[in-house]
Amino acid sequence: MAISKEIQAFLLDDAIERFMRYVKIWTTSDEKSSSTPSTEGQLEFGKILSEELQELGLIDVVHDKNGYVYGHLPASKGFEEAKPIGLIAHLDTSEAVSGKNVKPVIHENYDGNDIHYSENSELKLSLSDSKVLKDYIGLDIITSSGDTLLGADDKAGAAEIMTACAAWKKYPELIHGPITVCFNPDEEIGRGTKKIKKKLLPKICYTLDGSEIGQLELECFDAWGVDIKFKGLSVHPGYAKDLMINALHIACRFFSEIPEKESPEHTEEREGYYHLYKLVGEEEEAKATLIIRDFIVENNEKRMEFFKSLKESYEKKYPGLKIELAFQHQYQNMIIFLEKEQKAIDLAKAAIAQAGLEVKLHSIRGGTDGSKLSSMGIPTPNIFTGGELFHSRKEFIPTLGLQKAAEVILNLAELWSKN
Ligand SMILES: [Zn+2]
Repeated sequence: MAISKEIQAFLLDDAIERFMRYVKIWTTSDEKSSSTPSTEGQLEFGKILSEELQELGLIDVVHDKNGYVYGHLPASKGFEEAKPIGLIAHLDTSEAVSGKNVKPVIHENYDGNDIHYSENSELKLSLSDSKVLKDYIGLDIITSSGDTLLGADDKAGAAEIMTACAAWKKYPELIHGPITVCFNPDEEIGRGTKKIKKKLLPKICYTLDGSEIGQLELECFDAWGVDIKFKGLSVHPGYAKDLMINALHIACRFFSEIPEKESPEHTEEREGYYHLYKLVGEEEEAKATLIIRDFIVENNEKRMEFFKSLKESYEKKYPGLKIELAFQHQYQNMIIFLEKEQKAIDLAKAAIAQAGLEVKLHSIRGGTDGSKLSSMGIPTPNIFTGGELFHSRKEFIPTLGLQKAAEVILNLAELWSKN
């Protein structure tokens, strides 16, 4: 069923109202904190959301001591047997840019000219900043005031889920099966699913944490961490001929063998890379830390083989040198798990198309809560929120993105209720 004009108008107004309110709550996460959630503001935001969920008729609403919020919406009458689905968004915002005292601004009827910011006269948002901005001419666009990020990542996801709940309450003709809503802390610091209660979640979930309108993310990197230790021999440099094994210097030569084009700064889209981000040492010992990333598992395996063969040739070239390699699998490409639940993919595509949008499949050059949940046995594709230029002072979202994502949620729930 197509969403009526009246409901579309409700979704737009309701999502804007919620979004403008949510972004003002300071929920920046803090990597240095060892508590969960890492910051107090996330508790405050979670409390507000849990109260609003109760007002909207969700039952068994829990706001646990780790800051996770869970709520359950019983199915429409007659659809109790439908497969339950979960909707997830994260409470925190990135540390990359300040998220304190966000003052969102709605720029009505964006005309394509530069957008200027009241709190930062040097900053401007131009068409060249984002490839989609030209498509949003004529729409209303929300930005920050230039001194903070906006926080569409992921307050937009939270607003869209809450607005869908509000629509289910107001318009009983919107059919759905059992729905679970979950808001989790600390996604931006990689701890989003660390203390999640798997048993409170359905077997299929969707995160609303993507970007461009129409996007559906089914793939993320296959990710490895690599630690390499070089053990050499220190000798007084004046008397070192044929004796010294300079671990630090050898390490530099070793890493110069990595193909330069396979680095983060030379790759995009579906290309993988090596990324050396730490090298410390002296003559006796040097230690390096890298990550390797690719969408194709075999490509990462080749990269690990490359290190093994380098180790062999370097130990031969420098007798006495010892190189230790340690690889840790950090997370898997979630497509491996999603392909086993094809319906979760097909219905998401159908829900986006039903909202009158082109389905844009996108591969995440990183990981998400969804990739971790997928590997925990809960296939979790990632749906767009409409926000752009995340983790930046230029972050923005067209209000249409808020409405369309809420529409997709309603479509998805109806499709699952009948499949
Ligand atoms: Zn996010």
